[in-house]
Amino acid sequence: MISILDLFRIGIGPSSSHTVGPMRIAKRFLDGLDRTGDLGKVEHLHVQFQGSLALTGAGHGSIDASMLGLLGQVPDELDPDRVEELLRPVHNGSLRLLGQRSIGFNPKSDIELACDLIPDLHPNGMRLRAFAGDGSPLADETWYSTGGGFIASEQQLLQPAPDDLIANRAAPPLAFGSGAELLALCAAGHLDIASVVLANEGAWRPEAETFAGIDIIAAAMADCIDRGLHREGALPGGLNVRRRAPEIWTKLVQQSGTNEAEALFDWLNVYAMAVNEENAAGGRVVTAPTNGAAGIIPSVLRHYCTDGPDAVDKTRKFILTAGGIGLLYKQRASISGAEMGCQGEVGVACSMAAAGLAAVWGGTPEQVATAAEIGMEHNLGLTCDPVGGLVQIPCIERNAIGSVKAVNAARLALHSLETPKVSLDQVIETMRQTGLDMSSKYKETSLGGLAVNVVAC
Ligand code: SF4
Repeated sequence: MISILDLFRIGIGPSSSHTVGPMRIAKRFLDGLDRTGDLGKVEHLHVQFQGSLALTGAGHGSIDASMLGLLGQVPDELDPDRVEELLRPVHNGSLRLLGQRSIGFNPKSDIELACDLIPDLHPNGMRLRAFAGDGSPLADETWYSTGGGFIASEQQLLQPAPDDLIANRAAPPLAFGSGAELLALCAAGHLDIASVVLANEGAWRPEAETFAGIDIIAAAMADCIDRGLHREGALPGGLNVRRRAPEIWTKLVQQSGTNEAEALFDWLNVYAMAVNEENAAGGRVVTAPTNGAAGIIPSVLRHYCTDGPDAVDKTRKFILTAGGIGLLYKQRASISGAEMGCQGEVGVACSMAAAGLAAVWGGTPEQVATAAEIGMEHNLGLTCDPVGGLVQIPCIERNAIGSVKAVNAARLALHSLETPKVSLDQVIETMRQTGLDMSSKYKETSLGGLAVNVVAC
């Protein structure tokens, strides 16, 4: 099993699969050469993006991300404000491998977007090759960015083995591989979902460290909202999409105290949009469970869990519960837009947020699972068709809508007193099958949907 702290990771925008993953892969490739003592022999590098990474990599920041990884940068420590400064020498032809020694590098010719090469193993392929000064090959590896910032080598996908981050971990005491198993563990131990997840996290670190990790994640989400509420201007990429969160926020603050019932939508919308506008600008965000869907969980958390003396407890319960649901999607299906379409990103985030909120509102484990099920059921079939290959249209508004939908799903679930006709496992499997059947035009390739019907200008 993976940890919820693997699922919620601090990184930079705009995409966990196309930015965070490629950065990790590039660094991992050079780390391997460093371990074998070959890094000092490298004089030339070639990076090839394949499939969805090639088709939407330019708009999703994959090129810059891979160069940052080659420089030795890691997503959770990188200061987004330093990206331009770090990349300037690379654009001028000099790449400092892992920050140790420089080689000549031309991003235009040494990074290739192989748009017609669709890998069989996973749509997000990345081949990296290193050569010595005499042109002899030193390494040739193909890696895959499997969604949410997770990565896997060709070998790991051929013989399924865990991501590097989670190999050799102890088995958790309350392991679950399905929603049914999770609910059975809750019933047997008279536990809620958050307690089951917390017990499992205890296999990997002391409880205080898990809580500290959750608090850091929650603080990073809150910081992201606050930055997004105050940064104005157009987002990068050429679509000329203007940030709207600061304007909506100013209006809401001026009208605070209004009795207008629909103001609830405005608050949820503005928090989600603040996060996704930050993400689109390459800012620091938390994968929740991906960057493209990073606004939904922070929005619902901010609106419902940050006030009162029990704010910390509510926030921890929310994140543990939402994380437990996210693990099910990661284990039983996928959280990659390139594999599942947007149902695997915004749909999963909506499901996780609905579960977290239902738990905070006092729902039973069954009601929490129902909230997660409803959150996904009404996102089934949601396609990924980002205009211009940028994580802006429809992504930013889609997170706002997803936040409102998550709250509604939690409400519906708490009113539900009978056994649901559709179980959480059934809806996860339906999402998986729908994702497999979905045309690749609608899976983070920008070859269909809004991406071809809206002129990118
Ligand atoms: S449409 Fe959905 S899956 Fe595709 S990039 Fe946007 S948020 Fe991600």
